[in-house]
Amino acid sequence: IPQMTWTNLPDGEITFCNQRWCDYTGLTFEETKEKGRWQAIVHPDDLQQTIDLYQESLKTGRVFEVENRYKRADGTYRWHLNRGIPLKNELDEILFWIGTATDIEDQKQQMDKKDEFIGIASHELKTPLTSLKGYIQIMGVYKSEELPPVIKQYIGKANNAINKLHNLVNDLLDVSKIQAGRLNYTMNNFNLADMVNAAMENVKQIYPGYHFIGEIAPKLMVNGNSERLEQVLMNLVSNAVKYSKENTVITIRAYNHNEVIRVSVTDVGIGLSQEQMEKIFERFYRVEDKQFLTSGLGMGLYISSEIINNHKGKIGVESELGNGSTFYFELPVIAG
Ligand code: ADP
Repeated sequence: IPQMTWTNLPDGEITFCNQRWCDYTGLTFEETKEKGRWQAIVHPDDLQQTIDLYQESLKTGRVFEVENRYKRADGTYRWHLNRGIPLKNELDEILFWIGTATDIEDQKQQMDKKDEFIGIASHELKTPLTSLKGYIQIMGVYKSEELPPVIKQYIGKANNAINKLHNLVNDLLDVSKIQAGRLNYTMNNFNLADMVNAAMENVKQIYPGYHFIGEIAPKLMVNGNSERLEQVLMNLVSNAVKYSKENTVITIRAYNHNEVIRVSVTDVGIGLSQEQMEKIFERFYRVEDKQFLTSGLGMGLYISSEIINNHKGKIGVESELGNGSTFYFELPVIAG
């Protein structure tokens, strides 16, 4: 088979590896069996995660899966997707594990190229878009002679479309910055309640078709970047709007919850199944729902979770299919 394969006992002892493994690594089977030897083939940056997941699988009997780089005999590293499954006897006891490692270096490089392309394309799109936005704004406030009402209306529509495009391009830029590890911002101590109150006023203006209820504690000191946290909150609200009917209630809460600060957005919309909830924070993931087709690229929750993780916080969702959702993020409390 085209993969490298091996078998090992439940205690981790390696009992077989195929010729492809020996050719790739330059190790004989006897050498591969030696304690710690295969670990030395794994790229140092990927080793800890590989060992942790391997140990966990040996302990729990659950399928082992990890992406890591293995060193080839010539010293170069190539990305591999590892998978291991346990083979059991009729008493459900694990006899041994069968593992494979598939070379995914070419796919990884294509992904990197795609990320690079997204980065350049979104950057190129942003420049003309910014000037277009500027000109439309100038037209909107044109004073020398009165604009016909219909032109004002068109300018308003053009403005809305440009704002949507602007948000999309900004999201694309953020995704490519995250991929390149360059989503940087400064962190300050501030009262999160002020940001949530301001956002509350803002969303009432932007989404007049929904009833917003706010339950916001007066003082919630956190350390973070107010603009980025506002971006997360606005994203949760825009999803609540997108995935629930007009004239329904959206509740925004911000409070101290068991020694962490929690901000939540609750809607009474379409909700999510357990399986969907496990995936929605992944990059470009969207629930395929034929009845509820909305536009989007599946970037918002991915960006939000990156921002919250950067703040040493937690983002999550509680939901039931058909019964609405509560999306929340939590941040450590600070004194002050
Ligand atoms: P987008 O909304 O652009 O598709 P997101 O990353 O913001 O991307 O959301 C990912 C997916 O999570 C959405 O496609 C949708 O299926 C689901 N989702 C997000 N928010 C909600 C919500 N409030 N109610 C139901 N589903 C939601």
